[in-house]
Amino acid sequence: MSALIDPFGRHITYLRLSVTDRCDLRCVYCMSERMSFLPKAEILSFEEIDRLCAAFIKRGVRKLRLTGGEPLLRRDFTDLTRTLSRHLRTGALDELTLTTNATRLSHHADDLAAIGVKRVNVSLDTLDAETFARITRKQKLGDVLEGVEAARRAGIAVKINTVALKHDNAHELPALVAWAHERGMDITLIETMPLGAVEEDRTDQFLSLAEVKRAFEEIWTLDAIPHRSGGPARYVHVRETGGRLGFITPLSHNFCADCNRVRLTCSGRLYMCLGQDDHIDFREALRAGACEAELDALIARAMRQKPAAHNFAIGEASAAPALARHMSVTGG
Ligand code: SAM
Ligand code: SF4
Repeated sequence: MSALIDPFGRHITYLRLSVTDRCDLRCVYCMSERMSFLPKAEILSFEEIDRLCAAFIKRGVRKLRLTGGEPLLRRDFTDLTRTLSRHLRTGALDELTLTTNATRLSHHADDLAAIGVKRVNVSLDTLDAETFARITRKQKLGDVLEGVEAARRAGIAVKINTVALKHDNAHELPALVAWAHERGMDITLIETMPLGAVEEDRTDQFLSLAEVKRAFEEIWTLDAIPHRSGGPARYVHVRETGGRLGFITPLSHNFCADCNRVRLTCSGRLYMCLGQDDHIDFREALRAGACEAELDALIARAMRQKPAAHNFAIGEASAAPALARHMSVTGG
């Protein structure tokens, strides 16, 4: 079967799959305080997810990332991961991983390690309990830190993802980087993206990572390194801490030319770009009884429709989101 190559010659080898839109946190840049979530019937079932993943893997997807909402909130998450892990054993998949807020990671870490999950991304914007409660609207920093430790004890490599926020954590970023590096963890900083309506004004919280990098250069020596995780992050090695630090700058730079991924929502929509609205409805096809060849034809159509680049911009003039859907729907 032929590889997935889009009209711009990019090989698509990475599928990110949101397994639920629900979350136990309400991060201010991601969700509104009172979110309405999808009814269960609209969410892809275990079997539907399994079938779709198999179809993508057959076409050359080598990396699968489960995300959400909070993936560990899905009741059958461990069983689902275990079932998907058969593709690791056959060698069809290089990596099965997840992005989590880690509030429940301590309960899952040993199972995930046994299943074959070798790395996880943990989202953490602060080490201060009060700031954590302000950003996430919940008091769960202790659970997150326990989750991080449990994963490390289980032998899972943890990468920390931190959204840079002008008012909430700008001053704390060096401490957060030092904390991660002391524990041998990579850390990646992310600029806020205008996805979904939230109560806060994102223009107000937007912090350019170019500015953050300049501030780091006053205290540390940053050596550019060629390390690439197959994503939009650009890495440096911090000489003084000995750790790796990534920057994801969707707004101040875009790296769409290297994009190797597509995203499937928990309701079965495949978005060819995080920053565009064009999508293909796989749930409809599955529930209409599509056979393997029909699913394959839809995947091929998706490749033809993958756009060259995203449309993000945080304008001075407008705090309105560039896209109506929340990150928790598409999966980060
Ligand atoms: N709940 C899990 C978590 O927080 O890791 C997985 C889903 S979450 C949507 C994935 C990532 O998206 C998180 O690292 C989060 O910080 C990031 N994110 C959410 N909304 C964002 C936004 N508007 N701009 C930038 N990053 C965002
Ligand atoms: Fe939940 Fe993750 Fe969104 Fe925070 S960023 S509200 S943890 S889905």
